[in-house]
Amino acid sequence: MAVNYQRELDQLLGRLREDKKVPSLLLHSCCAPCSSYVLEYLSRYFEITVFYYNPNIFPEGEYTKRILEQQTLISQMETEHPVAFLAGCYDEEKFYEMARGLEHVREGGERCMRCYELRLRESAQIAAQGGFDYFTTTLSISPMKNAAKLNEIGGRLAEEYGVRYLHSDFKKKNGYKRSIELSREYGLYRQDYCGCEFSFREAEKRRNQQF
Ligand code: SF4
Repeated sequence: MAVNYQRELDQLLGRLREDKKVPSLLLHSCCAPCSSYVLEYLSRYFEITVFYYNPNIFPEGEYTKRILEQQTLISQMETEHPVAFLAGCYDEEKFYEMARGLEHVREGGERCMRCYELRLRESAQIAAQGGFDYFTTTLSISPMKNAAKLNEIGGRLAEEYGVRYLHSDFKKKNGYKRSIELSREYGLYRQDYCGCEFSFREAEKRRNQQF
């Protein structure tokens, strides 16, 4: 039977409120628009550190644009509990090494599963080193991302690194719709491709077909 991640998350958040606890959360973020709703939602319950680790992003100018947009959003958002920011390394070689042999796999395939794991593994490591109570990622907000797979990887890494993974499916409760509204409200840059060179080329092809 499919797990209802949203219900599980709601139950956990309810318990935190009852116990008046505000745990720390390392939130891996792929970009400002996806993080907007997640920050609005989770900053009521957690002290969040946004972890920007996305060595998949191509080209470097796009990486710079997205990371700056992320920092701007954090500085502008009003949140119940403080939100901090931590930048990871832009180690592109790691991404290309992981993607070797999978360059022509379409978005949503095996390359993406490994890309999730690459980013979540680094997040788990940093969360464990930093003594965070939980870690998770904004990625499940996208209708293009596989929430079940993200939760499976997160759960496995949680055991490996000894830090709890916050299971989630942020597109639920109209999360994706709300992220679009917030992106408009904050005037955020919304990219039209996932991030890597291969998704960039796919988007380029789509654009050319429209003409
Ligand atoms: S399409 Fe997105 S998730 Fe898939 S490999 Fe590229 S950047 Fe990663």
